[in-house]
Amino acid sequence: MHSDGSRRSLEDVLVRLEETHVALTTAFFPDTDIPLIEGMVFSRGEEFETLSGNPHVVGLFVPRVGPTGSLLAVRGDADRDQLDHIVAHELVHRLILQAFPRLPVWVNEGLALYLETVQVRNKGVLFGAAPRDELLVANYGAAVSLAELMQAPGSSLHGPDGHRYYASAWAFMHQLILGENGRYYRRLSAALRALQEVERTPRGYAEALAAVYPERTLPEMEHAMFAEAAWMYHMGADHIVAMRLARVSVEPVTAPADPEYIRGLSLQLLARLRPDYLLH
Ligand SMILES: [Zn+2]
Repeated sequence: MHSDGSRRSLEDVLVRLEETHVALTTAFFPDTDIPLIEGMVFSRGEEFETLSGNPHVVGLFVPRVGPTGSLLAVRGDADRDQLDHIVAHELVHRLILQAFPRLPVWVNEGLALYLETVQVRNKGVLFGAAPRDELLVANYGAAVSLAELMQAPGSSLHGPDGHRYYASAWAFMHQLILGENGRYYRRLSAALRALQEVERTPRGYAEALAAVYPERTLPEMEHAMFAEAAWMYHMGADHIVAMRLARVSVEPVTAPADPEYIRGLSLQLLARLRPDYLLH
């Protein structure tokens, strides 16, 4: 992690990144190699905004920059929660790439949305809080149906109607993990394995789900997706799952930057950063 800001602000970002890393790998990706992350924290918000071209973006992974293959660029004065969600979301994508490399895009995004709200606490971690935008879209009936989600090419998720697919993808993953008080949760890895092995068609996905959840039908799953979302929205209560986890003790090691290296990295970043490279 590189920064032009104070050592303290950098350590804060480092510690939270490391904690999130450990929480996600321990709870959801136990046998997955931990990918190395390289990042740059910009202490001046305006400078970051000029790079990202969007005042609402607080952090992004820029592909094909630096030795790890992508550089995390962070706005140092960003809202903490917002930044934590973005970092967790992208971390999940990296872990999925190692654990379930052929996972269909809609399942991949659903899992990243489900896990991005992870909260690291003193004696454990909390999962399951609904990402607010997706909960809102799902609850107002704007999310696509399960059938549409399964038919959608990956590009639909990144198109102008993307939010309708993301909302549905989150609701699907949410009911898979927490539906009926979590009774299906134990079969999650089996489902992910099955979903990445079948043909990428609605029929393939239906077969994968039927093999892992023989007692459930697709209409039942779809009903659970939106019924759960409506329940959470109206109750104002999320389905939080707490897991006991010893607090990670992170001892950041800091060193003076190598100006040559930073200059090279900054040039790559500049060359890459265009709005169309922004990741969800
Ligand atoms: Zn994503």
